[in-house]
This record gives sequence, C-alpha cells and structure tokens, in this order.
Amino acid sequence: MMNLKILEVMKKELPWKEFLDSMIEQGFQISNSLSSLNRTLLSSGKIILVNNYITSSIIRDPSLLHLSPYVIFRPINEEQLRKIVITSYKYSIPITFASGKTGLSGGFANFGILVDLEDLHSQTEPIFLDIGNKKLYAEQCVLVSDLIKLVHFKSNGKLMFPVRPASSYNLPVRVGGLISSNASGITSGKLGAAEDWIIDMRVIIPKGDVIMINGKEKLFHRIVGGNGFYGIVLSANFKLYQPEIDLERAILFGDNLNSAFIGLQKVLDSKIFPLISEFVTSPIKLPGEFSKLTSSDNTTLKVNWATLIKGKTEIINKFISIMKNESGTYYMNLTEEEFQKYMQERSTFALLVQTSEEDADYIAFPGFEDILSLPKYLPDIIKTINSIFIKKGFHQVIFGYGHINFRKGKGLLLHIRLPVPIHYFYRENSDLLIQICETVYEVIVVLKNKYQIQYKAEHSAGPFEIWLSSEFRKNLERDIRLGYAFNNPHLLIYNKLKADLEENYSNNLEKDLFISSMRLYLD
Ligand SMILES: Cc1cc2nc3c(=O)[nH]c(=O)nc-3n(C[C@H](O)[C@H](O)[C@H](O)COP(=O)(O)OP(=O)(O)OC[C@H]3O[C@@H](n4cnc5c(N)ncnc54)[C@H](O)[C@@H]3O)c2cc1C
Repeated sequence: MMNLKILEVMKKELPWKEFLDSMIEQGFQISNSLSSLNRTLLSSGKIILVNNYITSSIIRDPSLLHLSPYVIFRPINEEQLRKIVITSYKYSIPITFASGKTGLSGGFANFGILVDLEDLHSQTEPIFLDIGNKKLYAEQCVLVSDLIKLVHFKSNGKLMFPVRPASSYNLPVRVGGLISSNASGITSGKLGAAEDWIIDMRVIIPKGDVIMINGKEKLFHRIVGGNGFYGIVLSANFKLYQPEIDLERAILFGDNLNSAFIGLQKVLDSKIFPLISEFVTSPIKLPGEFSKLTSSDNTTLKVNWATLIKGKTEIINKFISIMKNESGTYYMNLTEEEFQKYMQERSTFALLVQTSEEDADYIAFPGFEDILSLPKYLPDIIKTINSIFIKKGFHQVIFGYGHINFRKGKGLLLHIRLPVPIHYFYRENSDLLIQICETVYEVIVVLKNKYQIQYKAEHSAGPFEIWLSSEFRKNLERDIRLGYAFNNPHLLIYNKLKADLEENYSNNLEKDLFISSMRLYLD
C-alpha cells in the first residue's frame, strides 16, 4: 500500500543547499553533533545540526508519532528565530517548533526543519508577576510547574496559576506548548482551558513579523491550540485566579463503575464544579496508593474507581451527597498532603497501561485518548472500544482516568489508550504497526458515528486534524499559499500519499490515507 522511503524522497527534493548557504551567510554554522565539543557554538544559538540521526531521534514527544528532521536549530534570541523563519519561508521548507516535548499528538514531528525553543528568550525578564492586578507575564520557555509554584508562594496562597495540565506535575510543560495545545487539566471543570486565561500574547508569524494579539482577533484562535502551524508563541500575559479560602479535599471510591457514572452524571446535571475533580478507574486493580483504598464497613470491597475532589466545603458536601445516593460509594476527607500524594500518582497515569494480562510489557498508545462524553454513556462507550480492541487482536483496556465536568461542564473527559504489546515495535515486526493504525482509525470513526465524539477533545490534534478533516486541510493549504501559515510537513506528506494512492486506486481513500500517513510516523 505504501512506500516507506517516501520521506527520504521528500527530504531530498527540498532546496537544502540554497537554504543552508543562506543561513551560513546570516551567521549560523553547521555542526554534526550537539556534543560538549560544540558547547560554545550551541550556547551562541547559531548551531545548525544537519542530518544527525541520534539527535533527530531524541527530539520527540511521548506520542510515539515521530519523524526525523533533516535540520535542527536551537536559537537563543528572537532575531535568530526570525532569520530561520524568514529563510525557511523563502525556500518553502516545512518547519515546526518544539517546546517542553510532552505533547501526545506528534504535533512538531517533521522531516524538514525542527526548531527547538527551549533556550529561546526575549529581551525581557522571563517572568513578571503582578500580584496587585492578578496578572502574570511569562516567556514561552518558562516551565508551567515553576509558574504554579511561584504564584502560590509569592501570593501566600491567595492566587493560583489557573491552567494545570496533569503533565505539569512531573514533566517539563512550557508556556509555548501550553498555549499552542490549548491545554487544560485538573482545574478544567471550574476554570476551563488556556484560552480562558490569556490576556494577550506576542507571536512571530510565518513571514517573520512579530505581532501582539488578543482574543478579539481571528489569529488568536488559530494560535491557541493551533500546534504552532500559524505562529510561534514568544510570550503571554495571563490572568490569575483567586481561589476561595478554606478549601476541603476528599476522595470518593467504590466498586460499582456503572453507578459511579450515574452519580457523576447527576453531579454534572446539578452544575457542581469543585476546583479540582479528577477520576480514575480500573476493573482489575487501581494502581499505587489507590490500591490501598478500603472501607471498615466492607472489608471485601474491591475498589474499581476513585474520584479526587477539592473545593469549597459546600460544593464538596453536595458532590459527596449526590454520589453517596448511588450504590457502592465510599468517601474519606483528605489533608492537603494526602490529596497531593494521590494527585502526583494520578498525573503519571497517562503513561501507564493495564490490561487483563498480568505482565506489563505494553505501551499505552494514544490517538483517540480524549473521550469527551456525558458520564451516563461511558459504560457503553468503554464496551464498544474494548470490542474493537479484541477484534483487532489487542487486550481489553481496563484502565482509564480523566477530568470530571471537563471545561466548565462539557462532560467527563476519559483518557483511554490502546495497550500495544511491546514486540509490535521491534524492527522485525514492523508489519504489525499497521494494526495499530487500523485500530486507532476504527475507534475514532466508531466514536464519531455512534456517539458524536470528536477526536482529541483535550490534547491538541497535531497531524490528526490533517488526517481527518478535509475542511482543515483546505483552509491550511490556502493559508500556506497566502503566507499566513508555515509550510506544514504533515500536509505535504498527506498530499504526497494521496497522489500515490489515487494513482493506485483505493476504495476507501480517507481510511487508507489515515493509515498510510500514521504508519510513516511509527517507523
Ligand atoms: C503524562 C501526561 C499527562 C498529560 N496531561 C495533560 C493534561 O492534563 N491536560 C492537557 O491539556 N495535556 C496534557 N498532556 C499533554 C501535554 O503535556 C500538553 O499538551 C502540554 O501543554 C504540551 O506542552 P509542551 O511544552 O510539552 O509542548 P510540546 O510537546 O513541545 O508541543 C506541543 C505542540 O505545541 C507546539 N508548540 C510548542 N511550543 C510552541 C511555541 N512556542 N509556539 C508555537 N507552537 C509551539 C508544538 O509544535 C506542538 O505542536 C499530558 C501529557 C502527558 C505525557
């Protein structure tokens, strides 16, 4: 069906000599490695790493969707970044931008130019906190975990940085990535997503201009959650949130998943929004600290779900009271320290996989992982997904986690991933990779057709938007032509494969293109 050498051909077709000559003329230098021997060159931001297999393999996010870039830059200032952007535009070379590299969609995967923004600073202090006006300025490279701590300590716990993806607890999520993926997280039920908290931001657009934009402009909504396709975020001003005082914390748990979903539906219908409300489930055994949950009333209790909530006493009491009316619900009040211990564990679940088999040699594969639905439909949805997994030769998923009352009450966002045995990724088994792509496609299509569930409701869509939406492709193609969007590697690959498949007649072009495209990113 597909020629895996297609990427090599596409790489060779690009005008690398002209591009590199032009970059050298502008003061950049080619190097073969990022080793300590090149420390001076590296710290000057002028390094151009060309065709370096090892570094190209390392700069990737945890989605397992990866391409090896031919050229990598690590600029340290905006002037360098503008030169890279303008020259890549001049030679029509696909370009993408990496920040904390914790995304779950392969958004910056590229066979052309990858710009690593980790060391890029503007000519300002990286962070400026204005407690009086409840505002914060931050550069794109600032770690979200630092912002969360700084705002808490400097305001004596009176203010908080409102956008808290679970990943920011343990991983280096950065401000640029947070905005470009329109992240949300453990506070999303009450506080929404990044887009709700940005006052304005500075960006570089594809022709190299630096502009300031806010939510009134159309471009703002293409950049927030836009995967870096329309502009590079340089810095942003955020509003800060002032939480109520004297918050309570509790954990609710039980052994009847169906009645838990009915209870959570009633919580949603009653518009009860704690500041934090997180959910985990596993019919086999909840992991870590969650596995120790018991009840003195029921010593044989086999806990298969738990909910962590934090908020005003009145809200927490209402939440508990609704859930207690459903059978098999228990609860405990927690101290802040105990609550944080559970939250720390909850935040690592994105990379955890559990199946009906005892051994743990599986990789949790993303792709359709953000299932946003009314809680009452979730038992049927989970059953449907598992039946597809079994039909395709995988185990049932029996572990999920997510956000209750997602983004101010849109539903429960449940994260479920495909448990792929690790041997699928061995070189000699590369034929098996097709099964992963087929399964991801089937789940996405069934969820859409049967339950009107849109893929990637939380994690930004990266190439999935190009693989699955003809409208998005059409608009992006037009915007690239007009110079409003960067040359996009995902679109170039998709169009190349489309031309090949159309020549070799395919009776389900959309499906074949999705599978062929995704397969290239797994090589
Ligand atoms: C364990 C785990 C838990 C997670 N939990 C959550 C969660 O609760 N909520 C949530 O929303 N996400 C979650 N994620 C996904 C991820 O952490 C977020 O999407 C995060 O915001 C990505 O930020 P980053 O700095 O790592 O960006 P990257 O992964 O580097 O990039 C993400 C996208 O943004 C683009 N980009 C990066 N920087 C810039 C910039 N300066 N300008 C323009 N484009 C840019 C990239 O090209 C890419 O398309 C989780 C991931 C993991 C692994």
